[in-house]
Amino acid sequence: ALHHKVVIVGGGSAGIAAAASLLKRSPALDVAIVEPSEDHFYQPGFTMVGGGVFQQPDTVRKTREVLPKGASWIRAAVSGFAPDSNTVELEGGAAVTYDVLVVALGNRLAWDSIEGLEAALGQNGVTSNYRYDLAPYTWQMVQKLARTPGPRRALFSQPPMPIKCAGAPQKAMYLSCSEWEERGVLGDIEVEFHNAGGVLFGVPDYVPALMETVERYGIGLKFGSTLVAVDGPAREATFRTETGEITRSFDMLHAVPPQEGNPIIANSPLADAAGYAEVDQVTLQSLGWPNVFALGDGCSTPNAKTAAAARKQAPVVAVNVLAALDGKDPVAAYDGYGSCPLTVDRGHIVLAEFTYGGKLAPSLPRWLIDGTRPSRVAWHLKADALPPIYWHGMLKGREWLVPPAPLL
Ligand code: FAD
Repeated sequence: ALHHKVVIVGGGSAGIAAAASLLKRSPALDVAIVEPSEDHFYQPGFTMVGGGVFQQPDTVRKTREVLPKGASWIRAAVSGFAPDSNTVELEGGAAVTYDVLVVALGNRLAWDSIEGLEAALGQNGVTSNYRYDLAPYTWQMVQKLARTPGPRRALFSQPPMPIKCAGAPQKAMYLSCSEWEERGVLGDIEVEFHNAGGVLFGVPDYVPALMETVERYGIGLKFGSTLVAVDGPAREATFRTETGEITRSFDMLHAVPPQEGNPIIANSPLADAAGYAEVDQVTLQSLGWPNVFALGDGCSTPNAKTAAAARKQAPVVAVNVLAALDGKDPVAAYDGYGSCPLTVDRGHIVLAEFTYGGKLAPSLPRWLIDGTRPSRVAWHLKADALPPIYWHGMLKGREWLVPPAPLL
């Protein structure tokens, strides 16, 4: 079988960042990335495409362009893991062995678990910013509703946690409402937020600003209401609530799929009970196999599943992988940092930044951005600064942006 010293599976945000961070530290290291997709997506930009702020091409690059110099690209899909024999199995029957493995496969969007949703998407007002190809349709529908006379109804759904970017379902709604408000049509559009959970956001400090936003737009909040079925042609959505099922008609539906562990991990010895790659939440090292690490949306750590988290995890993994190659214990620590820029309108963001346990962890001084209040500076951070930080900082292993914390 093919052998590489370090094999990274998944060339998404986390996998590329980890590879870049490793090669920055050890430029001659033999690193291979297993990734089947020709395209690499900047998913945090999808929200901005759905809000008419970014264009779709702003959120994609060719995988070969984002691969760090010196990394080998194995263009294949992983089909299984055999960690006892240091082997990754590839679709088609090939295999690759490693000294150290880094698992960065992301999570799975379970579109198929909502009856009728997949068939409905992209027509009849049914959309989702969680798909690259559909984010522009969100913006089209926002404009269409603004032009349509008479009363209209727009529904936004949020599945049970954990999902990647927990704020994204709301962001889609607030940016839509912001546009309708600006056009003077918000009063004609009945907006409902059907949230499977019972709170607007998991960290209480951010809730007041979000509640004010909900009130400003006159949004009908439905907690404990889970989208279970969609009938596109009839324009009807069915929700499961504590008191039974309810069906609502709509002119626009922004749906967010339930999310789960990547099945390749879930069906392997690396998985925890929920199907995520089980690692220590501080060192990101596998509990069962010391030469295996994991990061990003597909790992078991209880942080907010965000690219911001992967940005902080990547150097921690890089330092600990190099230690493992030297036969040493992990030396770097991840504090659980994650970030969610909640676009409350076109021009303002509530910038949630926190570590494990919901402890606030602002990156910038409070006089510049108070994360718990809508901020114009935070908007410019998201709209202007974060995309170049992603492409040229995080994916290139430029570490001054993300110094790894020492292990205490
Ligand atoms: P991904 O980037 O999804 O990459 C997983 C990779 O694994 C993919 O390239 C995939 O092709 C590959 N893969 C899958 N299966 C296999 C296989 N069998 N074999 C080999 N490779 C495989 N984060 C923020 O920080 N801020 C935000 O504002 C934000 N907003 C978001 C808005 C939306 C609408 C969405 C969808 C996400 C948002 N995120 C945000 C979350 C962020 O995009 C993810 O947390 C981040 O991409 C996680 O990186 P990852 O590498 O773990 O997963």
